Parts: sequence; C-alpha cells; structure tokens
Amino acid sequence: VRKLDIRAVGKRYRSVIAVDDVSLEVADGEFLTLLGPSGSGKTTLLSIVAGLVLPDSGEVHIDGRLATYMPAHKRDIGMVFQNYALFPHLSVFENIAFPLRMRKHREAHIRDEVARVLGIVELPHVADRLPRQLSGGQQQRIALARCMVYQPSITIMDEPLGALDKGLRDTMQLEIKRLHQQYGITVLYVTHDQEEALALSDRICLMRDGRAEQIAPPSELYFAPRSVFAASFIGDSNLLDGRVVSAAEGKLVVDGSYGRIVAEVEETGAFDIGDEVVALVRPESIRLCGSAENRENMVSGVVDSVLFAGGVMNLFVRTNDGTGFQAKLLTSRTTGAVERGARVSLSWDIRDVRL
Ligand code: ADP
Ligand code: MG
Repeated sequence: VRKLDIRAVGKRYRSVIAVDDVSLEVADGEFLTLLGPSGSGKTTLLSIVAGLVLPDSGEVHIDGRLATYMPAHKRDIGMVFQNYALFPHLSVFENIAFPLRMRKHREAHIRDEVARVLGIVELPHVADRLPRQLSGGQQQRIALARCMVYQPSITIMDEPLGALDKGLRDTMQLEIKRLHQQYGITVLYVTHDQEEALALSDRICLMRDGRAEQIAPPSELYFAPRSVFAASFIGDSNLLDGRVVSAAEGKLVVDGSYGRIVAEVEETGAFDIGDEVVALVRPESIRLCGSAENRENMVSGVVDSVLFAGGVMNLFVRTNDGTGFQAKLLTSRTTGAVERGARVSLSWDIRDVRL
C-alpha cells in the first residue's frame, strides 16, 4: 500500500531551485529518509508534504488522495521537528492531549490514550511536569508521544535529534527504530547525518541541489552508489580516477597513475575503451599484502598516519604518485606493528571495486 506519493514536485524561491522535479513513493510502514547536505531541499520537500509550503509544480498524494492543495490540518500527518517546541506553559499531559482535544475526543478516552503513549515512550511518571522540567531527550520523547497519540497516517521528522548530544542521540535513534518496528508507523525522516540514515532507514533518498540523486536501501547506497557524490557522501571512500583499457567477459581493466585496477561489472557494454571512470574501493575492503609481487588491484606507498580505534586501525597511505589511500584494518587480523613512515602494500578483491 502506498501511503505517500510525491510526483514530479518542484519548488523555486526566486533564483534558488529548492526542490527540482522530485518523485518519491513511501510505502505503508516504511521508514524513508531524506539524506543530504544542508541546503539540498530536505526541509522544503518535507514542508510540501506537510502542507506548510505549496509546490510550484507536481502533485502530492496521501493515502491515494490528491493532497497537493489540502490544508495542513486535514492531511493527517504527525510532525516532530528539531525545534518544534512543546507548549512551555502546558503540562506534559496537556501537551500530548492537545491533538485529541483539537479533535474533540471525550475526556476518558484522552486520559487512556495519553497514558498509553507515555507508556510507549517509557515516561509514564512525567505527566504532571512542565516541559522545562525534562531533559532534552525526554522532551523529544514527549514530542514523539504527542505525534503518536492520534496515530497519524504518516509521521514526518525533520532532524529531530539534531539538537541532542551524541549519547542521547544514539539512545533516541534506538527509540525511534523501536517505535517504528513495534507499531508499524510510516515515517518520512530527514537528516544530514549519514550514519543515522544508514542505521534507521528502510530506504534512503539521497538529495543534492534539490534533486533526488539516488533512492535505495542503505546497503545498496553504500555498496552500489550510482555517482561519485553518493560514494563520497556515504561512508569513507577511496576514489581513483582512471581510463578503461579493456572491457570483456564481465571484467573491466582501468589504468591510473597509481597502477591498474580490475573490476567485475555486470555489463561491460556500458563502457568503452578510453572512457574516464572513477573506481570506488571502500577502506574496509583493503588489506595489507606482501610487496614482492607487482600486480593489479594493489598499490604500494608510505604510511602517513595510523589511528588506532580499538577494533579497527585507520591507515592513511600515500603512494608514489601522490594518491592518498585510506584503509580500515581489523586490529585482530593485523599482525605486527604498522607505523608511520613504513612502506606497505595494499590490495583488494576484484569484487570490491565499484565503477
Ligand atoms: P535543507 O533542509 O536540505 O537544508 P532547505 O529545504 O531548507 O534545505 O533549503 C533548500 C534551498 O532553498 C536552500 O538554498 C535555501 O536557502 C532555500 N530556501 C528554503 N526556504 C526558503 C525560503 N523560505 N525563502 C528563500 N529561500 C529558501
Ligand atoms: Mg533543513
């Protein structure tokens, strides 16, 4: 079932194209995240869905109904924003009760429902407090509870954890994930934090300059990015420029200043000899190897720096031609000390190259 259907939506502010011909569907119960740098149009697109901003072109359908020009309060959308403050003069109980009072529910029903959602966010004891008597994380949970109390068709969240410190953000991420899984709510989420997007989402819509650059599940975005922008925005990456020297039998050979890369590709037909390409090798695909042999998918260089991070070691290596390589090595699999200034050879598997 399609909950939300955004069709070719565009929005311009004078000379700025905030949202540029975006089409996107959100399925019932799906957690979809708009991810992108600041200014890429995430908030504008969310505001169009919420009915706070009118698009210049395109259509928005909610639950199969045309909603492009529907007033915000008729859209049945719950909102949690970073700075979407609770009413400061109302108790937690009254804050959560507010959407139900607006809908003229009976008092007994309101009491039951507020108690129910306070239980869900595991804050049953704070009903009588004022928002300022709660921590930032608790306030955000109350905002979530207020949004859940009337079971909106879709919940939209714009950087809801942006104001919280790291520890609390991690806890709240788990909380949001739990709420989503347990209650099957449909979420359209916004963040500029790639780790948050990877951890929470069923699918991610990567935004760039108002456009939807790639829409895919987190692992596909990570392992099969369709652009250099996607490859470098998500995760750490080694990006190597080169030219195609041969393309046959599912294998592509690429030469660059650092050496030769061989990659497995589904369709060699998509490439011609002489094409300029960019190869992506993720740092965790790289391993140390003996330097005697000189072969493809291998580079030698000098260790620039070593950052020990417990389970992994982050190695920065500079090759003779000046290309920088980043390698993430499992500490438990790395024998002997790797030190700054040491000469090392790095290699990776043919299947770990993405062009
Ligand atoms: P994001 O949420 O990804 O940071 P926004 O949707 O807030 O991006 O903004 C996208 C672009 O549209 C930016 O260039 C921003 O400056 C511009 N923009 C957003 N809202 C307005 C507005 N009300 N008036 C003028 N320009 C705006
Ligand atoms: Mg924004």
